[in-house]
Amino acid sequence: MFVDSHCHLSFPELHDRIDAIRAEMADARVERALCICTTLEEFPRVHALATAHDNFWCSVGVHPDNEGVAEPSVDDLVSRSRLPRVVAIGETGLDYYRLGDRSLEQMEWQRERFRVHIRAARATGLPLVIHTRSASDDTLAILGEEGARQVRGVFHCFTETRAVARAALDLGFDISFSGILTFRNAEELREVAREVPLDRCLIETDSPYLAPAPKRGKVNSPAYVPYVAAKLAELKGLGIEAVAEATRANFERLFGLPALAR
Ligand SMILES: [Zn+2]
Ligand SMILES: [Zn+2]
Repeated sequence: MFVDSHCHLSFPELHDRIDAIRAEMADARVERALCICTTLEEFPRVHALATAHDNFWCSVGVHPDNEGVAEPSVDDLVSRSRLPRVVAIGETGLDYYRLGDRSLEQMEWQRERFRVHIRAARATGLPLVIHTRSASDDTLAILGEEGARQVRGVFHCFTETRAVARAALDLGFDISFSGILTFRNAEELREVAREVPLDRCLIETDSPYLAPAPKRGKVNSPAYVPYVAAKLAELKGLGIEAVAEATRANFERLFGLPALAR
């Protein structure tokens, strides 16, 4: 059985057909999923998914790419994180990929938002779900400055170098691989995946985006996470069941969930 450590089931592409998605998950033996929050405005819908279904949990956070949305305070995050079935803070982090004509100095709001999330994680003890793109130096530096080692978390949808993976692992963070692992041009990422110890690996879909091969180009869903597991198993020279079991156990440990009865 498999778990999807990062999906966006509150997005309309998936939310509008949640019963069908759940049936596809069951058919694919995807037993659990973490529903990721990207704005405070979205949080009630994300949280409702986690309270309505006993195999869904959720996070609370504001994605670094989201502008023109409510800016969270530490209290905004902490108060929501105390609700039942909220098990993580995020997704949060830094994304300099869409700078446009802005300078890095002009992205201070993003760094400040990231610090707020780390402080909320420290206040609650919940793990962080980190999104980092074209910004790994600042991401790692701010995690260090804010004492994130004390709460740990995961670098989700990892696409960085082996040096960044090593630094994240050294900070006590796990690494989550998505369907990108199956993309033809991702050989460097596959090298990283070969090196990350299996007991520090998670798997995810980041659905509705990034459907893995052979579903590439379709709307992604948690039901496709076994394709990520299969690729990781191939890279590690293991059976898919061993990878499913390890990533499930890592997921339960990181997010403090009861072990799945088998
Ligand atoms: Zn992300
Ligand atoms: Zn995401």
